[in-house]
Amino acid sequence: MTTVGILGGGQLARMLALAGAPLGLRFLVLDSAADACAGQFAPLLRANYTDVDALSEFAQRVDVATFDFENVPAQSARWLADRVPVFPNPRALAVAQDRLAEKSLFVELGIPVPQFADIVTRADLDAAIARIGTPCILKTRRLGYDGKGQFRIKPGLGSRDSGLGHAKATVDSAWAALGSQAGTVGLILEAFVPFDREVSVVAVRGRDGQFRAWPLTENWHVDGILSASLAPALVPAEIAEAAIAHARAVAQALDYVGVFALELFLVDGKLFANEMAPRVHNSGHWTIEGAETSQFENHLRAVLGLPLGSTHMRGHACMLNWVGELPDARAVLADPCGHWHDYGKSPRPGRKVGHATLRADTVAELAGGLRAVGNALGRDDQVAPVLARACLGRA
Ligand code: AMP
Repeated sequence: MTTVGILGGGQLARMLALAGAPLGLRFLVLDSAADACAGQFAPLLRANYTDVDALSEFAQRVDVATFDFENVPAQSARWLADRVPVFPNPRALAVAQDRLAEKSLFVELGIPVPQFADIVTRADLDAAIARIGTPCILKTRRLGYDGKGQFRIKPGLGSRDSGLGHAKATVDSAWAALGSQAGTVGLILEAFVPFDREVSVVAVRGRDGQFRAWPLTENWHVDGILSASLAPALVPAEIAEAAIAHARAVAQALDYVGVFALELFLVDGKLFANEMAPRVHNSGHWTIEGAETSQFENHLRAVLGLPLGSTHMRGHACMLNWVGELPDARAVLADPCGHWHDYGKSPRPGRKVGHATLRADTVAELAGGLRAVGNALGRDDQVAPVLARACLGRA
Protein backbone atom coordinates (compact mmCIF):
# COMPACT_ATOMS: atom_id res chain seq x y z
CA MET A 1 0.00 0.00 0.00
CA THR A 2 1.52 3.34 -1.05
CA THR A 3 0.77 6.46 0.97
CA VAL A 4 1.23 9.89 -0.60
CA GLY A 5 1.74 12.72 1.89
CA ILE A 6 0.39 16.13 0.91
CA LEU A 7 1.48 19.36 2.61
CA GLY A 8 -1.63 21.51 2.56
CA GLY A 9 -5.18 20.20 2.73
CA GLY A 10 -7.24 22.45 0.45
CA GLN A 11 -9.20 21.61 -2.67
CA LEU A 12 -6.07 20.68 -4.63
CA ALA A 13 -5.17 18.00 -2.07
CA ARG A 14 -8.80 16.90 -2.08
CA MET A 15 -8.80 16.47 -5.87
CA LEU A 16 -5.44 14.66 -5.70
CA ALA A 17 -6.92 12.22 -3.18
CA LEU A 18 -9.99 11.69 -5.37
CA ALA A 19 -7.77 11.03 -8.42
CA GLY A 20 -5.56 8.67 -6.43
CA ALA A 21 -8.34 6.40 -5.20
CA PRO A 22 -8.62 4.32 -8.41
CA LEU A 23 -4.83 3.94 -8.37
CA GLY A 24 -5.15 2.25 -4.97
CA LEU A 25 -3.30 5.05 -3.20
CA ARG A 26 -3.64 6.14 0.41
CA PHE A 27 -3.06 9.75 1.48
CA LEU A 28 -2.03 11.71 4.55
CA VAL A 29 -2.66 15.44 4.55
CA LEU A 30 -0.87 17.93 6.80
CA ASP A 31 -2.70 21.19 7.46
CA SER A 32 -3.16 23.52 10.40
CA ALA A 33 -6.92 23.93 9.83
CA ALA A 34 -9.24 21.40 11.48
CA ASP A 35 -11.74 21.86 8.64
CA ALA A 36 -9.22 21.53 5.76
CA CYS A 37 -11.47 20.19 2.99
CA ALA A 38 -9.12 17.38 1.90
CA GLY A 39 -9.68 15.96 5.38
CA GLN A 40 -13.10 14.76 4.19
CA PHE A 41 -11.31 12.20 1.99
CA ALA A 42 -7.96 11.57 3.64
CA PRO A 43 -6.57 11.36 7.17
CA LEU A 44 -5.58 14.82 8.36
CA LEU A 45 -2.54 15.51 10.51
CA ARG A 46 -3.30 18.86 12.07
CA ALA A 47 -0.14 20.93 12.59
CA ASN A 48 1.89 23.87 11.35
CA TYR A 49 4.37 23.30 8.52
CA THR A 50 7.22 24.13 10.87
CA ASP A 51 6.21 21.68 13.63
CA VAL A 52 9.16 19.26 13.66
CA ASP A 53 7.32 16.56 15.65
CA ALA A 54 4.45 16.63 13.15
CA LEU A 55 6.83 16.63 10.17
CA SER A 56 8.62 13.68 11.70
CA GLU A 57 5.37 11.71 12.12
CA PHE A 58 4.37 12.72 8.58
CA ALA A 59 7.70 11.45 7.18
CA GLN A 60 7.27 8.12 8.97
CA ARG A 61 3.75 7.57 7.67
CA VAL A 62 4.23 8.45 3.97
CA ASP A 63 6.20 6.93 1.07
CA VAL A 64 6.49 10.17 -0.89
CA ALA A 65 5.58 13.79 -0.14
CA THR A 66 4.18 16.54 -2.33
CA PHE A 67 2.39 19.90 -2.00
CA ASP A 68 -1.05 21.39 -2.39
CA PHE A 69 0.31 24.72 -1.13
CA GLU A 70 3.44 26.33 -2.58
CA ASN A 71 4.24 28.49 0.40
CA VAL A 72 5.25 25.66 2.69
CA PRO A 73 8.52 26.98 4.17
CA ALA A 74 11.39 25.79 1.95
CA GLN A 75 13.25 24.83 5.12
CA SER A 76 10.49 22.36 6.07
CA ALA A 77 10.58 20.92 2.55
CA ARG A 78 14.36 20.45 2.81
CA TRP A 79 14.04 18.83 6.26
CA LEU A 80 11.48 16.38 4.86
CA ALA A 81 13.55 15.69 1.74
CA ASP A 82 16.34 14.33 3.97
CA ARG A 83 13.89 11.69 5.23
CA VAL A 84 11.47 10.87 2.40
CA PRO A 85 11.32 11.55 -1.37
CA VAL A 86 9.82 15.03 -1.93
CA PHE A 87 8.50 16.16 -5.33
CA PRO A 88 8.83 18.78 -6.65
CA ASN A 89 12.31 19.09 -5.14
CA PRO A 90 12.86 21.79 -2.48
CA ARG A 91 15.02 23.92 -4.82
CA ALA A 92 12.24 24.07 -7.43
CA LEU A 93 9.80 24.97 -4.65
CA ALA A 94 12.12 27.70 -3.33
CA VAL A 95 12.56 29.27 -6.80
CA ALA A 96 8.83 29.20 -7.52
CA GLN A 97 8.08 30.77 -4.13
CA ASP A 98 10.11 33.85 -4.94
CA ARG A 99 9.02 36.13 -7.78
CA LEU A 100 12.54 37.55 -8.09
CA ALA A 101 14.21 34.12 -8.28
CA GLU A 102 11.70 32.78 -10.81
CA LYS A 103 11.90 35.87 -13.03
CA SER A 104 15.72 35.69 -12.90
CA LEU A 105 15.50 32.03 -13.97
CA PHE A 106 13.17 32.93 -16.85
CA VAL A 107 15.69 35.56 -18.01
CA GLU A 108 18.54 33.02 -17.79
CA LEU A 109 16.50 30.65 -19.96
CA GLY A 110 15.79 33.36 -22.55
CA ILE A 111 12.08 33.53 -21.68
CA PRO A 112 10.78 37.11 -22.09
CA VAL A 113 9.46 38.74 -18.89
CA PRO A 114 8.13 42.19 -18.05
CA GLN A 115 10.90 44.53 -16.88
CA PHE A 116 11.45 44.07 -13.15
CA ALA A 117 13.61 45.28 -10.26
CA ASP A 118 14.46 44.05 -6.77
CA ILE A 119 13.24 46.62 -4.22
CA VAL A 120 14.84 46.88 -0.80
CA THR A 121 14.54 50.60 0.00
CA ARG A 122 12.31 53.49 -0.92
CA ALA A 123 15.21 54.89 -2.97
CA ASP A 124 15.28 51.59 -4.94
CA LEU A 125 11.59 52.08 -5.69
CA ASP A 126 12.09 55.61 -7.01
CA ALA A 127 15.06 54.52 -9.12
CA ALA A 128 13.16 51.50 -10.48
CA ILE A 129 10.12 53.60 -11.40
CA ALA A 130 12.40 56.07 -13.18
CA ARG A 131 13.85 53.17 -15.21
CA ILE A 132 10.72 51.02 -15.77
CA GLY A 133 8.15 53.82 -15.94
CA THR A 134 4.45 53.69 -15.11
CA PRO A 135 2.07 51.93 -14.98
CA CYS A 136 3.84 49.33 -12.92
CA ILE A 137 3.08 46.94 -10.07
CA LEU A 138 4.80 46.63 -6.71
CA LYS A 139 4.49 43.05 -5.44
CA THR A 140 5.73 41.07 -2.50
CA ARG A 141 8.40 38.60 -3.67
CA ARG A 142 7.00 35.82 -1.53
CA LEU A 143 3.66 34.75 0.00
CA GLY A 144 1.40 36.69 -2.39
CA TYR A 145 -1.41 34.80 -4.13
CA ASP A 146 -4.67 35.53 -5.96
CA GLY A 147 -3.58 39.15 -6.47
CA LYS A 148 -2.84 39.71 -2.76
CA GLY A 149 0.33 41.59 -1.78
CA GLN A 150 0.23 43.78 -4.89
CA PHE A 151 -0.08 47.52 -5.45
CA ARG A 152 -0.63 49.04 -8.88
CA ILE A 153 1.16 52.32 -9.52
CA LYS A 154 -0.68 54.27 -12.19
CA PRO A 155 0.81 57.08 -14.28
CA GLY A 156 0.74 60.24 -12.19
CA LEU A 157 -1.86 62.88 -12.90
CA GLY A 158 -1.37 65.28 -10.01
CA SER A 159 1.74 66.92 -8.64
CA ARG A 160 4.86 65.22 -9.86
CA ASP A 161 8.04 64.83 -7.93
CA SER A 162 11.35 65.94 -9.24
CA GLY A 163 11.63 64.51 -12.69
CA LEU A 164 10.57 60.93 -11.99
CA GLY A 165 7.44 61.39 -14.08
CA HIS A 166 5.02 59.84 -11.64
CA ALA A 167 2.80 61.14 -8.87
CA LYS A 168 4.72 61.06 -5.61
CA ALA A 169 1.47 60.49 -3.71
CA THR A 170 0.85 57.21 -5.55
CA VAL A 171 4.34 55.94 -4.85
CA ASP A 172 3.99 57.03 -1.22
CA SER A 173 0.80 54.94 -0.99
CA ALA A 174 2.49 51.93 -2.59
CA TRP A 175 5.36 52.19 -0.14
CA ALA A 176 2.97 52.72 2.79
CA ALA A 177 1.06 49.58 1.77
CA LEU A 178 4.00 47.25 1.15
CA GLY A 179 7.26 48.97 2.21
CA SER A 180 7.26 47.34 5.65
CA GLN A 181 7.56 43.96 3.93
CA ALA A 182 10.75 44.87 2.04
CA GLY A 183 12.88 43.38 4.82
CA THR A 184 10.75 40.25 5.36
CA VAL A 185 9.14 38.71 2.27
CA GLY A 186 10.95 41.15 -0.07
CA LEU A 187 9.52 43.30 -2.86
CA ILE A 188 9.73 43.38 -6.64
CA LEU A 189 8.61 46.10 -9.05
CA GLU A 190 7.27 44.93 -12.41
CA ALA A 191 6.27 46.83 -15.53
CA PHE A 192 2.53 46.59 -16.13
CA VAL A 193 1.88 44.48 -19.24
CA PRO A 194 -1.11 45.76 -21.26
CA PHE A 195 -1.95 42.18 -22.16
CA ASP A 196 -4.48 41.02 -24.75
CA ARG A 197 -4.80 37.66 -23.07
CA GLU A 198 -3.61 35.67 -20.09
CA VAL A 199 -2.68 32.08 -20.81
CA SER A 200 -1.17 29.22 -18.85
CA VAL A 201 0.71 26.07 -19.65
CA VAL A 202 -0.14 23.22 -17.30
CA ALA A 203 2.51 20.56 -17.72
CA VAL A 204 3.95 17.50 -16.04
CA ARG A 205 7.47 16.09 -15.84
CA GLY A 206 8.16 12.56 -14.68
CA ARG A 207 11.01 11.29 -12.51
CA ASP A 208 12.65 10.03 -15.72
CA GLY A 209 12.51 13.52 -17.29
CA GLN A 210 9.58 12.77 -19.60
CA PHE A 211 7.64 16.00 -20.23
CA ARG A 212 4.03 16.43 -21.30
CA ALA A 213 1.83 19.52 -21.50
CA TRP A 214 -1.92 19.88 -21.77
CA PRO A 215 -3.18 22.23 -24.48
CA LEU A 216 -2.60 25.91 -23.70
CA THR A 217 -5.40 27.43 -21.58
CA GLU A 218 -6.72 31.00 -21.64
CA ASN A 219 -7.67 32.50 -18.27
CA TRP A 220 -9.77 35.42 -17.04
CA HIS A 221 -9.35 36.89 -13.56
CA VAL A 222 -11.70 39.04 -11.49
CA ASP A 223 -10.15 40.96 -8.59
CA GLY A 224 -6.95 38.89 -9.04
CA ILE A 225 -8.82 35.57 -8.64
CA LEU A 226 -9.27 33.14 -11.53
CA SER A 227 -12.83 33.35 -12.81
CA ALA A 228 -12.86 31.28 -16.02
CA SER A 229 -10.56 29.15 -18.15
CA LEU A 230 -10.95 28.05 -21.76
CA ALA A 231 -9.06 25.14 -23.31
CA PRO A 232 -7.60 24.96 -25.78
CA ALA A 233 -6.78 28.68 -25.90
CA LEU A 234 -7.86 29.97 -29.29
CA VAL A 235 -4.42 31.21 -30.33
CA PRO A 236 -2.22 30.41 -33.33
CA ALA A 237 -0.42 27.06 -32.98
CA GLU A 238 3.04 28.69 -32.94
CA ILE A 239 2.14 30.71 -29.84
CA ALA A 240 0.94 27.61 -28.00
CA GLU A 241 4.10 25.78 -29.04
CA ALA A 242 6.34 28.63 -27.86
CA ALA A 243 4.57 28.75 -24.47
CA ILE A 244 4.96 25.00 -24.04
CA ALA A 245 8.64 25.20 -25.03
CA HIS A 246 9.15 27.82 -22.28
CA ALA A 247 7.48 25.50 -19.75
CA ARG A 248 9.67 22.59 -20.84
CA ALA A 249 12.82 24.70 -20.40
CA VAL A 250 11.77 25.75 -16.88
CA ALA A 251 10.95 22.15 -15.88
CA GLN A 252 14.31 20.90 -17.15
CA ALA A 253 16.28 23.67 -15.48
CA LEU A 254 14.69 22.90 -12.10
CA ASP A 255 14.77 19.10 -12.54
CA TYR A 256 11.10 19.46 -11.76
CA VAL A 257 8.96 16.38 -11.01
CA GLY A 258 5.16 16.65 -10.97
CA VAL A 259 2.62 19.06 -12.39
CA PHE A 260 3.19 22.81 -12.53
CA ALA A 261 1.70 25.83 -14.27
CA LEU A 262 3.49 28.59 -16.13
CA GLU A 263 1.38 31.73 -16.40
CA LEU A 264 2.07 34.06 -19.31
CA PHE A 265 0.75 37.28 -20.80
CA LEU A 266 0.12 37.55 -24.52
CA VAL A 267 0.54 41.05 -25.95
CA ASP A 268 0.70 41.84 -29.68
CA GLY A 269 1.44 38.18 -30.41
CA LYS A 270 4.36 38.09 -27.94
CA LEU A 271 4.55 36.02 -24.76
CA PHE A 272 5.85 37.31 -21.42
CA ALA A 273 6.16 34.95 -18.46
CA ASN A 274 4.46 36.13 -15.27
CA GLU A 275 4.97 33.35 -12.76
CA MET A 276 5.03 29.63 -12.17
CA ALA A 277 3.03 27.62 -9.65
CA PRO A 278 4.85 24.50 -8.38
CA ARG A 279 1.73 22.37 -8.05
CA VAL A 280 -1.47 21.33 -9.74
CA HIS A 281 -3.22 24.52 -10.80
CA ASN A 282 -6.68 26.02 -10.93
CA SER A 283 -6.34 26.63 -14.68
CA GLY A 284 -5.89 22.85 -15.11
CA HIS A 285 -9.10 21.77 -13.38
CA TRP A 286 -10.80 21.29 -16.74
CA THR A 287 -8.45 18.34 -17.37
CA ILE A 288 -10.53 16.19 -14.98
CA GLU A 289 -13.25 15.73 -17.58
CA GLY A 290 -11.64 17.35 -20.62
CA ALA A 291 -8.42 15.39 -21.03
CA GLU A 292 -7.39 11.79 -21.34
CA THR A 293 -5.49 12.06 -18.04
CA SER A 294 -6.22 14.77 -15.48
CA GLN A 295 -3.52 16.98 -13.97
CA PHE A 296 -4.24 15.34 -10.61
CA GLU A 297 -3.72 11.77 -11.85
CA ASN A 298 -0.59 12.73 -13.78
CA HIS A 299 0.86 14.54 -10.78
CA LEU A 300 0.48 11.37 -8.72
CA ARG A 301 1.92 9.24 -11.52
CA ALA A 302 4.89 11.60 -11.78
CA VAL A 303 5.76 11.77 -8.09
CA LEU A 304 5.44 7.97 -7.81
CA GLY A 305 7.68 7.35 -10.84
CA LEU A 306 4.82 5.72 -12.80
CA PRO A 307 4.38 6.17 -16.57
CA LEU A 308 2.61 9.44 -17.42
CA GLY A 309 -0.83 9.39 -19.04
CA SER A 310 -1.68 11.20 -22.26
CA THR A 311 -2.47 14.91 -21.93
CA HIS A 312 -4.56 14.82 -25.09
CA MET A 313 -7.89 16.61 -24.82
CA ARG A 314 -11.20 15.81 -26.41
CA GLY A 315 -12.94 18.83 -27.95
CA HIS A 316 -13.17 22.05 -25.93
CA ALA A 317 -13.65 22.78 -22.26
CA CYS A 318 -14.46 25.75 -20.08
CA MET A 319 -14.04 25.89 -16.32
CA LEU A 320 -15.98 28.39 -14.21
CA ASN A 321 -14.76 29.05 -10.68
CA TRP A 322 -17.23 29.50 -7.84
CA VAL A 323 -15.84 32.12 -5.50
CA GLY A 324 -17.51 33.04 -2.18
CA GLU A 325 -20.50 30.73 -2.44
CA LEU A 326 -21.82 27.95 -4.66
CA PRO A 327 -24.58 28.68 -7.18
CA ASP A 328 -27.34 26.14 -7.93
CA ALA A 329 -25.75 22.96 -9.32
CA ARG A 330 -28.81 22.06 -11.40
CA ALA A 331 -28.06 24.66 -14.10
CA VAL A 332 -24.73 22.95 -14.78
CA LEU A 333 -26.00 19.40 -14.35
CA ALA A 334 -28.77 20.14 -16.88
CA ASP A 335 -26.04 20.23 -19.52
CA PRO A 336 -25.19 16.59 -20.37
CA CYS A 337 -21.53 17.64 -20.69
CA GLY A 338 -21.59 19.77 -17.52
CA HIS A 339 -19.63 18.67 -14.44
CA TRP A 340 -19.93 19.93 -10.89
CA HIS A 341 -17.28 20.18 -8.18
CA ASP A 342 -18.20 21.16 -4.62
CA TYR A 343 -15.10 21.47 -2.44
CA GLY A 344 -17.04 20.92 0.80
CA LYS A 345 -16.02 24.34 2.18
CA SER A 346 -18.16 26.81 4.07
CA PRO A 347 -18.92 29.98 2.10
CA ARG A 348 -16.71 33.04 2.65
CA PRO A 349 -16.09 36.11 0.45
CA GLY A 350 -13.11 35.58 -1.86
CA ARG A 351 -12.85 31.87 -1.07
CA LYS A 352 -12.77 29.29 -3.88
CA VAL A 353 -15.61 26.93 -2.93
CA GLY A 354 -16.08 24.93 -6.13
CA HIS A 355 -16.00 24.94 -9.90
CA ALA A 356 -17.87 23.61 -12.92
CA THR A 357 -16.51 22.34 -16.21
CA LEU A 358 -18.45 22.33 -19.44
CA ARG A 359 -17.13 20.21 -22.26
CA ALA A 360 -18.21 20.08 -25.91
CA ASP A 361 -16.98 18.73 -29.20
CA THR A 362 -17.06 22.13 -30.92
CA VAL A 363 -16.51 25.74 -29.84
CA ALA A 364 -20.06 26.59 -30.97
CA GLU A 365 -21.57 23.88 -28.75
CA LEU A 366 -19.46 25.00 -25.83
CA ALA A 367 -20.65 28.59 -26.35
CA GLY A 368 -24.27 27.39 -26.35
CA GLY A 369 -23.79 25.52 -23.07
CA LEU A 370 -22.03 28.48 -21.47
CA ARG A 371 -24.73 30.91 -22.52
CA ALA A 372 -27.40 28.66 -20.99
CA VAL A 373 -25.51 28.26 -17.70
CA GLY A 374 -24.72 31.98 -17.50
CA ASN A 375 -28.40 32.85 -18.02
CA ALA A 376 -29.75 30.25 -15.61
CA LEU A 377 -27.37 31.33 -12.83
CA GLY A 378 -27.55 35.08 -13.48
CA ARG A 379 -23.82 34.96 -14.17
CA ASP A 380 -23.75 36.45 -17.65
CA ASP A 381 -20.79 38.63 -16.60
CA GLN A 382 -18.70 35.60 -15.71
CA VAL A 383 -19.26 33.81 -19.01
CA ALA A 384 -19.23 36.93 -21.24
CA PRO A 385 -15.45 37.16 -21.88
CA VAL A 386 -15.27 33.45 -22.69
CA LEU A 387 -18.27 33.74 -25.00
CA ALA A 388 -16.73 36.73 -26.73
CA ARG A 389 -13.60 34.68 -27.42
CA ALA A 390 -15.43 31.46 -28.31
CA CYS A 391 -17.75 33.29 -30.71
CA LEU A 392 -14.78 34.87 -32.46
CA GLY A 393 -13.42 31.37 -33.06
CA ARG A 394 -9.79 30.70 -33.82
CA ALA A 395 -7.64 33.81 -33.98
P1 AMP B 1 -0.04 37.27 -10.04
O1 AMP B 1 -0.27 37.05 -8.57
O2 AMP B 1 1.32 37.73 -10.38
O3 AMP B 1 -0.47 36.08 -10.86
O4 AMP B 1 -1.03 38.45 -10.44
C1 AMP B 1 -2.45 38.33 -10.39
C2 AMP B 1 -3.06 38.98 -11.62
O5 AMP B 1 -2.69 40.38 -11.67
C3 AMP B 1 -2.55 38.41 -12.94
O6 AMP B 1 -3.25 37.26 -13.31
C4 AMP B 1 -2.79 39.58 -13.88
O7 AMP B 1 -4.15 39.65 -14.23
C5 AMP B 1 -2.43 40.77 -13.02
N1 AMP B 1 -0.99 41.10 -13.18
C6 AMP B 1 0.02 40.66 -12.42
N2 AMP B 1 1.21 41.13 -12.86
C7 AMP B 1 0.95 41.90 -13.92
C8 AMP B 1 1.76 42.67 -14.82
N3 AMP B 1 3.09 42.76 -14.68
N4 AMP B 1 1.13 43.34 -15.81
C9 AMP B 1 -0.22 43.27 -15.96
N5 AMP B 1 -1.03 42.56 -15.15
C10 AMP B 1 -0.47 41.89 -14.14
